[in-house]
Formats: sequence, structure tokens, C-alpha cells
Amino acid sequence: MRDRILLSLAHMGGSEKRWVDEAFKSNWIVPLGPNVDEFEHRLESYLNHGRVVALSAGTAALHLGLVMLGVSEGDEVICQSFTFSASANPVRYQGAHPVFVDSEPDTWNMSPIALEEAIIDRYRITGKYPKAIIPVHLYGMPAKMDEILEIAGKYGIPVLEDAAEALGSEYKGKKCGTIGHFGALSFNGNKIITTSGGGALICSDENSAKRVKFYATQARENRPYYYHEVIGFNYRLSNVCAGIGCGQMDVLSDHVSRRREIHDTYTKALSDIEGVTVQHNPSDDYDSNFWLSTILIEPSTGKTPDDVRLSLEAENIETRLLWRPMHMQPVYKNAPYYGGTVCEELFAKGLCLPSSSSLTDDEIKRVTEALHRAL
Ligand SMILES: *Cc1c(COP(=O)(O)O)cnc(C)c1O
Repeated sequence: MRDRILLSLAHMGGSEKRWVDEAFKSNWIVPLGPNVDEFEHRLESYLNHGRVVALSAGTAALHLGLVMLGVSEGDEVICQSFTFSASANPVRYQGAHPVFVDSEPDTWNMSPIALEEAIIDRYRITGKYPKAIIPVHLYGMPAKMDEILEIAGKYGIPVLEDAAEALGSEYKGKKCGTIGHFGALSFNGNKIITTSGGGALICSDENSAKRVKFYATQARENRPYYYHEVIGFNYRLSNVCAGIGCGQMDVLSDHVSRRREIHDTYTKALSDIEGVTVQHNPSDDYDSNFWLSTILIEPSTGKTPDDVRLSLEAENIETRLLWRPMHMQPVYKNAPYYGGTVCEELFAKGLCLPSSSSLTDDEIKRVTEALHRAL
């Protein structure tokens, strides 16, 4: 059996260990310390926007984003249905309720039409507007942010971008995660860069970043004894993990270019398969990092995505179906849903291909040849 090819792997650049060693040498094993500050500065210069707070996970970043927007018990939050559960679960952590909306076919992300329909209908039913909107830049593809922000602005609802998969992606020249009121990043092991586990919340100004740090460190008021006025969290990134992040910032641009190159290679190599399309930027306004390259397989091929997945699995190549929409998950079966069947169809037709920045050209060739055999 040939070596296994995985979907998306951690990819070290080489300098990470130096930063981690530094943490050991200076005895900064305790949470917080110089690597955390340095990692945040590096992210801020890369994003060229506001302030960044390093946290223990992307999920924690989304949770604190909701806390900052005042989402609480009984509120509703509009969330893209076509996503990973971590986009929606923090809404429940706050005792609030997600309202799911469909995707549009260009970017596969939040449909502005379904969004406005949901806002109007929730107001009709509850007498209140939803407290926040969570669009996702899924697989790295930027959502239609201008349209989403325009509707959000019309009803005075803040936007929290889930940019967990979209570090390095750009929408009209703006980095994903810096466009809404807050943006969440993830440094989980399978993302564009990793800290082994971690995340960050992108804030537009110093004051909100300070408040996020306050919430992330148990909400301790500035007194000589422990004094708490609000509920806090233990959500900061550790200094050791931040060291890995500092090293990863050296290779972030290379990782993004390599993922885009892998996507280009798939696009060219698969163009001759009837009924198969590789997801692409809908126009020059969109510049996906192509965190994962994904394909749609039409029923005319006579194959389902799961048939293709199993064929590749037999050649020791990992692929995965697209995210199963949240409104189709048992845990969210009672949540309201607005829109049509766009995300359900994507789920029925789509497959994610191996996309690690560490993939070699030979490995990509193995994948494209296996796809030709499977289809
Ligand atoms: C990975 C991911 C998250 C959660 O990030 P963690 O760092 O794993 O907590 C949230 N949303 C999306 C879309 C993701 O892909």
C-alpha cells in the first residue's frame, strides 16, 4: 500500500522550535508571555487591521465575539447553515438560539437574500431583531460581504465573521476576518497555519481587544484581590503554543500560495472529466486561500461523492464530503431555517480533496489519477 495522503495536515516551517525553546529557556511555561505578544503583533501586521487577541481555539474566538456583541439568554443569532458546528455552538453557549440561513451558489456562503428574509421574519415572529450575524468564509472562499454588511447595517445588526478557514483570503482587497465587526481565526492542526490548537479574535480597536483579553482571563477586575463583576473564561493561548504560531507566521504566505497552486493544478487536471467542477473564485473580487480544494460531482457521472470517496480510500487517499448543513443536524433540528436547497445540494454533490500545503506534486498527481479512475 502506498503512503496515505491526508486531507489537510499541520506543516511546520522550521523556525517554530526556536520560539518554543525560547519559552522553555525563559521559563515562560505559564500562560501568557512574550510569544503571545509577538504572535499577536505578527498577525496584526499581516492583516494590517485593528488588534488581534490570541485565544485557545477558534471556537473560543467565536464565543468571545458573541460575548462582546452582548448576545445573551433568549437572543437569536443568524448563522450560515452550511458550516462546521463550531460556527453555531457558541450561540448556544450563551443561551441564545441560532437561526440558520441557506447559501448562494457563487461562493457557497451566506445568501444575502435568505439573510434578509430571516431578519424580517424573525422580527415578525419575535418582535426583536437577531442580535448578530455569523457569515462563514467556508473552505477559504470569501462570503458576499458587501451585500451582507449592507443588510446588517440596514437593521443595525453587527457581523461576526467566521474566518477560521480563511486566513489569507481576500475580498475586494480586504483580508477575511477584518471586514465585519469582529472576525474569528483558527489555528487548529488542519488549518492554514497551526499552533497545535488555538485561535484569535480580530477586533477593530484597542479598547475592544482589551475587553476581549479581560474576558479571556477570567474577567478579573483591577484590584489587589480577586473581584468579578461579570462571568469570565479561561480562553487565552499559552505562551508555548504562541511560539509555534510565531514560527508559522514566517511561512504563512508560502502556505497560502501553495494551497492556491494545488487548487490550480486540480482545476487543470480535472477539467476533462465530464460532470465534475472544481470550486473557483466567482470573480476578481474574490481571492480564496483555497484552504481545501473542493469539487462538485453531478449525478450524470453515475457516481455519488461517497462512491468517489470510497474509491480513493481504497488507494489510501483521504477525501471528505462537504459539511453537512446545520439545519440537517439532529442537534439543531428545531432551529428555524430560511432559504432553499442550495446548501443541501452542495452537501449531496460535493467532495473535499487533499489540500495540505506540504503535498508534493507527485502526491497531487496520485490524487488526480485516482479521480480519473473513480469517475
Ligand atoms: C475549525 C473551524 C472552527 C473552530 O476552530 P477551532 O480552532 O477548531 O476551535 C470554526 N469554524 C469553522 C468554519 C472551522 O473550520
